[in-house]
Amino acid sequence: MVFSHDTEMALLSAVNLINTAPTSVAEDGQVTGPDALETVASLDDFVRRERFSGSREHSAAEVQAVRAMRGELRTTFTADEEDAVGLVNGLLARAQALPQLVKHDEWDWHLHATAQAAPLAERMGVEAAMALVDVIRGKELQRLKVCAAPDCCAVVIDLSKNRSRRYCDTGNCGNRAHVAAYRLRKSTA
Ligand SMILES: [Zn+2]
Ligand SMILES: [Zn+2]
Repeated sequence: MVFSHDTEMALLSAVNLINTAPTSVAEDGQVTGPDALETVASLDDFVRRERFSGSREHSAAEVQAVRAMRGELRTTFTADEEDAVGLVNGLLARAQALPQLVKHDEWDWHLHATAQAAPLAERMGVEAAMALVDVIRGKELQRLKVCAAPDCCAVVIDLSKNRSRRYCDTGNCGNRAHVAAYRLRKSTA
């Protein structure tokens, strides 16, 4: 394990949030594709899948706030170290994050840095920011990547031992790349 279990879960959850945005890159460089976070129902699904606890509004404003946070997290994920530090510190300061050990549902003691009554977008952002604190101080920021497929801009958290992961798992990017490489080898053989 590269990071603590909590940190890895939070990073995977942040990746899943960021990748709800369109991730297909057209030939002209435009990002296209479906947005999986457009409605209250799709946010409900996401929250259920990612098992976020705490307060909910079930409103369009809440969806908008989560979408804004999604964009902010993408910027942080793809930033260099200095910018990432500024963004993480900014997010934690804005949310007035206060780390506390908590126990809820079936989970043993773990860290929350926002109250369960804080807005969902803020809780999502702070949880990701706390995980990014671990990543940055562990000098592991290079594990946050953008998918290597030329037509995909999904983000990837590389939790492999030798930092060898290149493709996202939102679509089939790794398989497509292997098939393309195989075809190329065959056609040049
Ligand atoms: Zn919790
Ligand atoms: Zn991809």
